[in-house]
Amino acid sequence: MLNVDLGRGGRPLRIAYGRIFHEANAYSPLRTEQQDFERLHHLEGAALAEATELRGVELKSFMPHAELTGFRQAARLAGGVETVPLSSSFAVPSGPLTAECFAWLLDTLCDKVRAAGALDGIYLALHGSMQVEGLGEAPEAVILRRVREAAGPGPKLAVSYDLHANLSAGLVEPCEVLIAYRSNPHWDLAPTGFRAGNRLIRALRGKCRPVHAWRKLPMVLGGGITIDFLAPMRGVFRYLKRLERDPRVLSTSLFMVHPYTSAEALGWAVHVCTDGDAALAEELADALADRAWAERHVTPPPMRRVDEALDEVKASPWRRLGPITLVDVDDIVGAGAPGGNTRIAAALAADDRGLRAAYVPVHDPALVAALWDAPLGSRRACTLRGTPGYDAPEVALEGTVAARATTDFGRGVRLDVGGLCLVATERPPLPIHPSFWTSFGLAARDADLIVQKNFFHYRMFYATTSFRHLPVVSDGATSLERVRTRSYGLPMHPATELADWRPSDPLLRRARGTT
Ligand SMILES: [Zn+2]
Repeated sequence: MLNVDLGRGGRPLRIAYGRIFHEANAYSPLRTEQQDFERLHHLEGAALAEATELRGVELKSFMPHAELTGFRQAARLAGGVETVPLSSSFAVPSGPLTAECFAWLLDTLCDKVRAAGALDGIYLALHGSMQVEGLGEAPEAVILRRVREAAGPGPKLAVSYDLHANLSAGLVEPCEVLIAYRSNPHWDLAPTGFRAGNRLIRALRGKCRPVHAWRKLPMVLGGGITIDFLAPMRGVFRYLKRLERDPRVLSTSLFMVHPYTSAEALGWAVHVCTDGDAALAEELADALADRAWAERHVTPPPMRRVDEALDEVKASPWRRLGPITLVDVDDIVGAGAPGGNTRIAAALAADDRGLRAAYVPVHDPALVAALWDAPLGSRRACTLRGTPGYDAPEVALEGTVAARATTDFGRGVRLDVGGLCLVATERPPLPIHPSFWTSFGLAARDADLIVQKNFFHYRMFYATTSFRHLPVVSDGATSLERVRTRSYGLPMHPATELADWRPSDPLLRRARGTT
């Protein structure tokens, strides 16, 4: 019997919390290893508890309050809940994890689960688009299975996913509570954890009885066109919230998948959870799937080739107001690309069109090593190769070594070639904040153009600096062309014009979500 007010026979509830979070890009030549997590975010036990206090910093240099802080707030407000920290690991999106790295993450988390003692519930913040080398299954499905084995059959599981998760049965069925981010870009990590915690606590106290329905849609759209507050997705997200106003509905989620994985059964998904009303969950899942499917013909913003974009910058009156942003859409580090695309730098080195200053970040560890000890102000001839194994064109350069600095992206060296200010970095560069350029003696405001390696987050920090944003296509790990032309095993929109999502739904849901 469930105790209405406390749970566990009048004692406070004990709920453990943890995270394993990574978004994989199957087209990156890089592999994600243990040190990538340790460098960015890996906390255990008391250190995790401290970081997820309201005064703590959960994800340093990224977001002070994320899912686990939100979860602990829900527990605090509910009262009568003891929260037990497990482990939390987060690395920047990149290539698939090595098997060793995944084993380390799993063992760390499961050891903590075993050591936690009797639990009523476990909340895990997961991504849903991880990949692990050589693993024939969605990694999150393995995490949930292993945590269940470690915890025994008793505790209920609550999981939150990124809205770019690729849902499969292994990600859905073990969960009593399943919640997804609601905003893209993702601002709502803490509210997501709060909702997951709140639903889990209510379920444990017998105040609700979650039942689920979900659907899979045969569609995969590219990044950058699924912003929650812009058309066409704005309408769909409003619809989700409207459904949740019904007191019988516990949660509604839309999953727009991370398209740059090699998961077999890739596709958008919807998930609906109601309070004990299975028929209603099924009905609303169908309605939500129809609503999302109706937006499949969204047209991507017009893309420029590199030369077209540079011509446009040269001619643009916007240039007088601040730097024009070139979004390197085929090399988006925020979506797991390695950041070693050399094509824009090559075009600028060949002809900078008389621009005063063009700021270009590029991942090239060999170039950093070659130039690190060069005296500042010296002239150097060198070769830009980008990320090893990425097949970006080699570019012969001669320029002045203008600055060096160590940033979040390892050591970096600035080489000035005419108007091109190239900053080569040791690790994939994701310089969403103008302070990156300051580290290399450059003011963002002085540039004619700045190359960005993310779709949208940077705009928060450039809102008063850059007023014109041009998506540029070339070739790389986040190329839409690769998404469009890869094999999916099933006919998939937009490569195939499909009238209805229903025939594909059972096939996609039955698949194991293998990688
Ligand atoms: Zn995401």
